[in-house]
Amino acid sequence: GEHRHSDFEKIKVLGHGNDGTVYQVRHRRTGSIYALKTLAADDSISRRQIHREIDVLRRTDSPVVVRFHGVISSASGDVSVLLEYMDAGSLESLLMAGNRRPFPEAAIAGIARRVLLGLSYLHSQQIVHRDIKPSNLLVNTAGEIKIADFGVSKIMRRSLDPCVSYVGTCAYMSPERFDPDSYGGNYDAYAADVWSLGLTVLELHLGHFPLLLPGQRPDWATLMCAICFGEPPKLPETASENFRDFIARCLQKESSNRWSVAELLAHPFVAWDQEEADQAFRELLSLPP
Ligand code: ADP
Ligand code: MG
Repeated sequence: GEHRHSDFEKIKVLGHGNDGTVYQVRHRRTGSIYALKTLAADDSISRRQIHREIDVLRRTDSPVVVRFHGVISSASGDVSVLLEYMDAGSLESLLMAGNRRPFPEAAIAGIARRVLLGLSYLHSQQIVHRDIKPSNLLVNTAGEIKIADFGVSKIMRRSLDPCVSYVGTCAYMSPERFDPDSYGGNYDAYAADVWSLGLTVLELHLGHFPLLLPGQRPDWATLMCAICFGEPPKLPETASENFRDFIARCLQKESSNRWSVAELLAHPFVAWDQEEADQAFRELLSLPP
């Protein structure tokens, strides 16, 4: 339904994005807690982003996607999005909380399965996320993991509509999005999300962003060279065979060689005993079994 800013009380800042701020808020009448994502309205790019995000969120209804609870517009033209509050932050904040200590494989297998289910849902709705990375995967103390931040996602209108624009964090961007022409221009847009998933999952194991050395400053040129001209990053020999194979299937530079979300959901790495994977994730969150 319709909401007004005055219906809510700000509790604290949850995160800063590119152009806006995400607050934890309380609905004054009901006491319910939400996240409120706000953007400054003076900038046309961020306006477009928030409207894109609202467009996409309206089309989603899934336990693996952060829930959308409505929009608040102010007289000045500011638009804010009311979202389900995820009380354990993001996979990025979880990594930081553990001083970037690697996650155990069992927990990563459970996370990979969750994100794949989310991508499978989004892709079935013709939505390409285009910005899968640890800070856009939110977690709660129920042990759930959900996909968030649809600011640069795309709703595919035609079946073969290449995504060629430079949006999203370039660090997690697949080779064909950097350089669409040398990849035929007609690649499968959905495969870009699989590349980003591969990098994200690899980061959870290494504890640092896979294409840079720990502490190395990311700049656009270094990253573009690493992504387009380097060998795709891979897991060390110490990781399990299944995990290494899973990463290799995601991080194929040629998008047509990359496994699809459906294929990856049937990969042995993701078939990890679910109870064990869930338990390993709860331990990461320091939750009781
Ligand atoms: P941006 O587009 O600016 O990156 P995000 O939607 O990714 O914005 O939000 C930025 C950060 O705010 C996230 O990484 C997360 O830490 C926090 N955040 C966003 N949405 C929520 C939410 N629903 N619940 C809890 N924290 C959130
Ligand atoms: Mg984000």
